[in-house]
Amino acid sequence: MEVIISLVILSLVIWFVYWIIDSSGSKQFGHGVVVGKKFTPAHMQTTYVTTSQSDGRGGTITSTYPQITWIPDSYVLRIRIAGDMPSTSVSEEVYESFNEGDSIPVKYSQGRLSKDKIYIKKVGHHITQESIEGWECPNCKTINYTKTYECEKCRWGA
Ligand SMILES: [Zn+2]
Repeated sequence: MEVIISLVILSLVIWFVYWIIDSSGSKQFGHGVVVGKKFTPAHMQTTYVTTSQSDGRGGTITSTYPQITWIPDSYVLRIRIAGDMPSTSVSEEVYESFNEGDSIPVKYSQGRLSKDKIYIKKVGHHITQESIEGWECPNCKTINYTKTYECEKCRWGA
């Protein structure tokens, strides 16, 4: 029994170290497509825990009791990006602002070890028609969204 527990703990540690290394690739920005939405309402989750203890006379007493965990609302978006389809938890506000098929700005990294795995670091807000129509300043390369073609950073065009 103790050997099994040690092996389980060891494999968890290995998996965790692998995950740390794999998910620490350099950050990139890109646009993905929302391919799925999943809302899970808050609920109680019951799991049964069994314990055994000595009865003091060479035998054991096992007892099972329910353990109740409160699981809060969960909003998950599934995003197709760079050849992978990772899922990510988002706020209710971000969740509601996207529909399936929408383009979504994503900050992500590519797996260091598993080259085809994508880790989502952060997702941006919904792109409005206005922000798509941004323009790049020819002087300082800042993306501006002003309609007057005056750069907000370097005042080019003002
Ligand atoms: Zn500028």
